[in-house]
Amino acid sequence: MFEKVLIANRGEIALRVHRACREMGIATVAVHSTADEHAMHVRLANESVCIGPPQASESYLNIPAIISACEITGADAVHPGYGFLSENARFAEILEAHGITFIGPTSDHIKLMGDKIAAKAAVKALGIPVVPGSPGAVTSNEEALRVSKEMGFPVLVKAAAGGGGRGMKVALTEDALIEAFSTARAEAKAAFGDDAMYIEKYLGRPRHIEVQVIADSHGNVVHLGERDCSLQRRNQKILEEAPSPALNEESRKKIGEIVSRAIGKLGYLGVGTVEFLYEDGEFYFIEMNTRLQVEHPVTEAITGIDLVREQIRIAAGLELSFKQEDVNFRGHAIECRVNAENAKTFVPSPGTIREYHTPGGLGVRVDSGVYSGYRIPPYYDSLIGKLIVHGRSRNECLMRLRRALHEFVIEGVDTTIPLFKELVNDPDLIDGNYHIHWLEEFLERS
Ligand code: ADP
Repeated sequence: MFEKVLIANRGEIALRVHRACREMGIATVAVHSTADEHAMHVRLANESVCIGPPQASESYLNIPAIISACEITGADAVHPGYGFLSENARFAEILEAHGITFIGPTSDHIKLMGDKIAAKAAVKALGIPVVPGSPGAVTSNEEALRVSKEMGFPVLVKAAAGGGGRGMKVALTEDALIEAFSTARAEAKAAFGDDAMYIEKYLGRPRHIEVQVIADSHGNVVHLGERDCSLQRRNQKILEEAPSPALNEESRKKIGEIVSRAIGKLGYLGVGTVEFLYEDGEFYFIEMNTRLQVEHPVTEAITGIDLVREQIRIAAGLELSFKQEDVNFRGHAIECRVNAENAKTFVPSPGTIREYHTPGGLGVRVDSGVYSGYRIPPYYDSLIGKLIVHGRSRNECLMRLRRALHEFVIEGVDTTIPLFKELVNDPDLIDGNYHIHWLEEFLERS
């Protein structure tokens, strides 16, 4: 087992990784920018190293500085969290060249899944159903038009290198297509330095359902059920739940087995999430994330499995501590992403937290790195914490969530808590009756 793990991230996820290490008796190294000197993960880690100025490009994305921090502290492994360098194949390769373990999949698998065109082709060949679309990259207006006409409108133009909901444009008609294709392409070039585009059938009212898988280096692959992440704003998840209100035991088992088999054939290592759109009883693959997800705690709540602990064990070459038949799904869990944003306008609200009180009690978990007096820096994304609630049934989970939201006090900055307070009383949400555009429609109504 590793003796010392460097956590190449910040905020709640850095703390989450620290907690797993601490429980396993592994020392931690926090790296931080000058803006995060007083962050909780820095305070709690065994050691910390400042790796640069606030701008992420010069600190949390600064590979030479992070490698130096590993060498100075003698860390034998790096956990990348999510975002930042977590899906950077070059980072994984450089670490390997320095004899440091990257806690994640191989760089080849990161590369494969990072190219969404290649990923789609690869998983299709492994038996996973995909969204109908162009067979590969679409390089000209004429080709875009031909492919879209064959498929039928509306279509979605997507960037091969896309992520975080960027580089995507819907085209409802032939006329709109050329415009959508050129804008999305220019956006992709600017955001990712890569303008390879592809086109998919635009699904009207699907749910976003993703399957969590975990694989070790001994050939064991286990799926941990699904998460429903259909509550989104601008293609960004806001609230997630497990299990999905739309699946039953049979459909869960079926998609879980399809995914496990494919991931096994791929020889994948570590945790991964296979994302699908789900409409009229059919699953359509959209992408695979080769890292821990923000919403992993809902899976932990219903399975009792510590995903970060398992990631670390797998990276150290150990066998998974459970088999598929040992996994029992218990009860229901919901996660709310608490962002420092105005709950109506979604304008970021950095600043100092004056009052902070987290909810507690049975079935309530808060993953956050903030505290009373903490100053939220303006340089990073606005997620400041996650409220995860577990109950024996979905109904109990919702009742507990209402009570937990009522207890949650964050003063000094705006947060998305008021939005969740409204959502948990909405009849559609209570019935689990929603799709990926539901939240935007709800926001327009309110
Ligand atoms: P990203 O990597 O940017 O998150 P994804 O491919 O995972 O991109 O898609 C993000 C979200 O965009 C999905 O959860 C869904 O809401 C929407 N989306 C993606 N593909 C389609 C599609 N073919 N039809 C309708 N909506 C889609």
